[in-house]
Amino acid sequence: MRDHMSDALDGRKLRPESLMMSYGYAPTWSEGALKSPIFQTSTFVFETAEDGKRFFEIATGQRACGEDERVGLIYSRLNNPDLEILEDRLTLWDGGETATVFASGMAAIATTLLAHLRPGDVLLHSGPLYGGTDHLVRDVLPELGIATVEYTAEMDREAIDAALAAADGRLAMIFIETPANPTNDLFDIETAVAIAADHTADGRRPFVMVDNTFLGPVWQSPLAHGADAAIYSATKYIGGHSDLVAGAIVGTHDAVDPVAALRTCLGTMATPFTGWLLMRSLETLSLRMERQTATAQRIARFLTHHPKVHNVHYLGLLEAGDPGYEIYKRQCTGPGAMIAFEVDDGEAGAFRFLNHLEVVRLAVSLGSTESLAEHPGTMTHAGVDAETKQRLGITPSLVRLSVGVEHPEDLILDLGQALAAV
Ligand code: PLP
Repeated sequence: MRDHMSDALDGRKLRPESLMMSYGYAPTWSEGALKSPIFQTSTFVFETAEDGKRFFEIATGQRACGEDERVGLIYSRLNNPDLEILEDRLTLWDGGETATVFASGMAAIATTLLAHLRPGDVLLHSGPLYGGTDHLVRDVLPELGIATVEYTAEMDREAIDAALAAADGRLAMIFIETPANPTNDLFDIETAVAIAADHTADGRRPFVMVDNTFLGPVWQSPLAHGADAAIYSATKYIGGHSDLVAGAIVGTHDAVDPVAALRTCLGTMATPFTGWLLMRSLETLSLRMERQTATAQRIARFLTHHPKVHNVHYLGLLEAGDPGYEIYKRQCTGPGAMIAFEVDDGEAGAFRFLNHLEVVRLAVSLGSTESLAEHPGTMTHAGVDAETKQRLGITPSLVRLSVGVEHPEDLILDLGQALAAV
């Protein structure tokens, strides 16, 4: 299926925005249909038994795919045109060699960690992490004999090295979520890559995996900073319409191929319809993210001047001298549309604010066309232990806002009236 449409014109590479409507799909495959159909099928018919044998030889790794050979379509747990075309399109945004899509962001993260980590290994990870990832890393991996070491945005290289030195085992992976959910703390991808390089042993460098859900793929490209892969909850900006749950990993063959193989084994792939919906979404990805980011900048300014609001965590407000500013300048091309802030009166004040919102909806998730607000301490990060929450700034007063594509003035009107109720 990988008969690509050309991605260049007059020798110039076309940008992802121009390729999202056509790349990786030929209308001749489907009666001239402009859009790829939904290949709603569990299995694919082989023309001959010899074809079936060849496809399986390649799919099961018994031999490599020849130069002029294609991995044929077999069965939708292994491959499906909607997922393959989508994966090809995802590689364009991040400049990856390959991509693999999943049933959820957590499926992408869990399959990645399980593909690369073994008992006795050490995982170095940033904190805070999204609540689901936090549970996987803090509670599940140690039960499998994998040690986990956390580092925070305040820790310098010396402090990180000291934390690592205290852990027993081989550093096998560095997993960072940057910006962090919900605080927008930034982690330097190049520092993670340098740590990984220093822990190269027997020719194996620990993998650097970056959860790029908050800014990617438009405002941050982890692979350009040396990471091995970018991981996504595609439920968020990539999907962008609050109508699907999905995940993805985009990166080098070394980092992603074992993850794709384990996806086949675990069955953590996305469905054809989800793949089709994500292709629809990719066509407007940068339009949505640009509009959401422009609106978020206005809202962040409004919030910083509001007397009942404190500690507005927004990348667009970072100034020279602020923690994270240097990383932001080097690593991000835009501040995105996620804002966290504290309101007066602790949890009671936060709840009063959330309960009075009219345009912004009170719901978890983020990155969608509609603006969403939630209370991380009792919702997305409810499972994070109290000590960790307090240490990492997930306070009772903290509210997280995902800015959508509504009219900015309507959103500011809504936030203002809800804050008046605090
Ligand atoms: N990573 C981040 C940063 C998230 O915010 C989330 C979900 O909120 C996930 C991963 C998990 O994604 P999903 O809900 O699609 O499984």
